[in-house]
Amino acid sequence: MTTFGRETILIDNHWIAAKSGDTYPVSNPATGEEIGWVADGDAADTTAAIDAAAAALPGWRATVARDRARILLRSAALLRERAAEIGRVLTEEQGKPLAEGVGEIEYSASFFEWFAGEAERVEGTIVPAQRSDQRVLVMRQPVGVTAAITPWNFPAAMLARKIAPALAAGCPMVIKPAEATPYTALHVAQALVDAGLPPGVLGVITSDRAADVSSSLFGDGRVRKVSFTGSTEVGRLLIKASAEQIVKLSLELGGHAPYLVFDDADIDQAVEQVIACKFRNAGQTCVCTNRVYVQRGIAAEFVAKISAKVAALKVGNGLTDGVVVGPLIDADGLDKAEGHVDDAIAKGAECLVGGHRLSGGDYGAGYFFEPTVLTGIDASMRIAQEETFGPVLGLTVFDTEAEALALANSTPFGLAAYAHTRDHARLFRVAEGLEHGIVGINTGLISAANVPFGGVKHSGYGREGGRVGIDEYLVTKYVAISI
Ligand code: ADP
Repeated sequence: MTTFGRETILIDNHWIAAKSGDTYPVSNPATGEEIGWVADGDAADTTAAIDAAAAALPGWRATVARDRARILLRSAALLRERAAEIGRVLTEEQGKPLAEGVGEIEYSASFFEWFAGEAERVEGTIVPAQRSDQRVLVMRQPVGVTAAITPWNFPAAMLARKIAPALAAGCPMVIKPAEATPYTALHVAQALVDAGLPPGVLGVITSDRAADVSSSLFGDGRVRKVSFTGSTEVGRLLIKASAEQIVKLSLELGGHAPYLVFDDADIDQAVEQVIACKFRNAGQTCVCTNRVYVQRGIAAEFVAKISAKVAALKVGNGLTDGVVVGPLIDADGLDKAEGHVDDAIAKGAECLVGGHRLSGGDYGAGYFFEPTVLTGIDASMRIAQEETFGPVLGLTVFDTEAEALALANSTPFGLAAYAHTRDHARLFRVAEGLEHGIVGINTGLISAANVPFGGVKHSGYGREGGRVGIDEYLVTKYVAISI
């Protein structure tokens, strides 16, 4: 497997240093130790990557779809072959347990496989004309040079689900991985280069200066589409930045997922699924539940069962056997989780499990927080309004289905929502009534390559994955022909 020095900018299939020569350090959140230094790219490096992408565009969009698909499939095979090694790199820079790190690389490969198939299904239509001497064609074509800006919580998967549809559609892409987790991105890019991707089709800018990179991407005029996953706050900045050059956007922004557990639920299944949903990646996913609403009739049993299981979750360095909850990404993440717990307790919540930072001993200088269960959460508390992004489970008791739906829809966010019920009529009422882009019924795990993933309201717009995922990288052209 390739090892990377400080030449971590990819232009024309060459790994190079930043033009400025600047670098920045990357550290392991489980230990606080430095992993290495990467190139700190700026606007000039970004423009060079756009130059290469623009030069590659005519050749790449003219490449027949099956040949583009072959490269995607080869890169997927390489990612699967290298999953154990890249998964370890991911765990070292991001913190998640190794099994989740390896799983994420395999999940990333699945996007390349899925979109390899979609590459060959970008079909047009022939529309019946309104005059007998006319014919009307509708064709779908690549949007042009594209870019992706991604977060640190899924350093491989968030890139894969942007790169794969872009390349499948015939669009070159320049990517800016999150500053905290560049190494995983470098390995994903290397797999594509090794799979035979032509020079310029993929550019990588590692950078600790997101705003500089972004202003170059949005100001250039040649970048026609940017796909972003990250905070709602930065999403708003990008909407403004896109105005000047009218850049097409997809935005997957913050979530604040409600989880409804009705009296008629299979309680053990609900306990297991809520834990899987909440504590995966130490609670640092945009589809993690942040608000669990339990119906009064089963509340006591549910709380007792989930508290016992959460108390048994093993916290530690993701490379240690048996660890299921790793560190948070940084000191700010730790402060936020602690702040939400302290605020809830000060306003009357009860802490049944956890509630504190973990330090010293095996935890060393890592950013660890105890898996936590809070009850008595109400709307005045920060945890009920803001994404915690930490291993903190907040519970509220409700009485009626109407009340539960109103609570679930009560924030400006609308990414994922979940419910457990065995009543089929309720299942449909709830699935239809939740104002969220994704709904899991009797399951807390909803991400996959073959489904349209994305939000409504302040959680953004656009869909990634599924049949529609490639549409984000295509434009529709209508051709009228007089014969
Ligand atoms: P998170 O809270 O998950 O770190 P952010 O929205 O801050 O979410 O970061 C997601 C991605 O957005 C990262 O790649 C980050 O570098 C980038 N980013 C942060 N600030 C800006 C900005 N002003 N313009 C463009 N990208 C940004």
